[in-house]
Amino acid sequence: MNVENYKKKVFETIEKFNLIEKNDKIFVAVSGGKDSAAALFLLKEYAENYVNAEIVAFHINLNFEFSNKVEEVVKEICKIAKVDLIVRNVKEYGMDILKISKIKKRPVCSICGLIKRYLINKVAKESRATKVATGHHMYDFLIFYFRNILTKNFEWNFKILPKLKAYTDKFVTKIRPLFFAKPEENKYFCEINKIPFLTICPYSISIGCYADKRSLKIYEIIKNESIDWEEILRSIAIFNRKYFSKYLKEEEEKIGRCEICGEPTNLKICGFCRLTNIK
Ligand code: SF4
Ligand code: ZN
Repeated sequence: MNVENYKKKVFETIEKFNLIEKNDKIFVAVSGGKDSAAALFLLKEYAENYVNAEIVAFHINLNFEFSNKVEEVVKEICKIAKVDLIVRNVKEYGMDILKISKIKKRPVCSICGLIKRYLINKVAKESRATKVATGHHMYDFLIFYFRNILTKNFEWNFKILPKLKAYTDKFVTKIRPLFFAKPEENKYFCEINKIPFLTICPYSISIGCYADKRSLKIYEIIKNESIDWEEILRSIAIFNRKYFSKYLKEEEEKIGRCEICGEPTNLKICGFCRLTNIK
């Protein structure tokens, strides 16, 4: 693998989809894994060289038995990247992910994902970030795409874009600089630059934040089929940008606010606040 080509591909994604703009304050969600670490370093390098933007790292301590070790690695990553870090612990919000998962009989990843999405959006807004960046890679989006087709959640696929614009103050614009990058490329980039990272969370099934067998099956097909997946994903993104921006704007405007916390939800009480009542 050629690191320069990889970097060029990520920088082209940033440029082509206008991911970083002048005076942006970009909140990078750093998990301690290779993908978000690569995203942090590449965004920092791009911001330093091409546009005046502030890069801040954000980490959520999930309060699992190994989470303090993860937090230490994240601190180390941010120290090397020379980026300020904001940390929140789910226990500050009264959340015990494993306990909730047991009581609700829902997979750990489903509860964890809901809490992470909520806190990233909320803390980014509180910190006046203009954008939130995540380390999602090409396979994440392809798995999401095919899973949504199989589960008939077709409209979720309209959000598969390197930049998911926020149209109201309920959300922060999401950017995905590694949209066209493969996880193995992100890993190689970290290794060659001696960036520390931890391998997969024990609650996932080997490929990332997925706990279902269907995702694993899709992943295996993607990995083993010699199809130009990058080109397919590129077409999906072009199609979505061309035809569904108006739809996404209208859908976002319809979303209300939680009666308890004021965060966006389609119900009276948001999913996060409903979890806080579980004892
Ligand atoms: Fe959370 Fe599951 Fe990802 Fe682990 S694998 S961090 S439990 S979503
Ligand atoms: Zn709420």
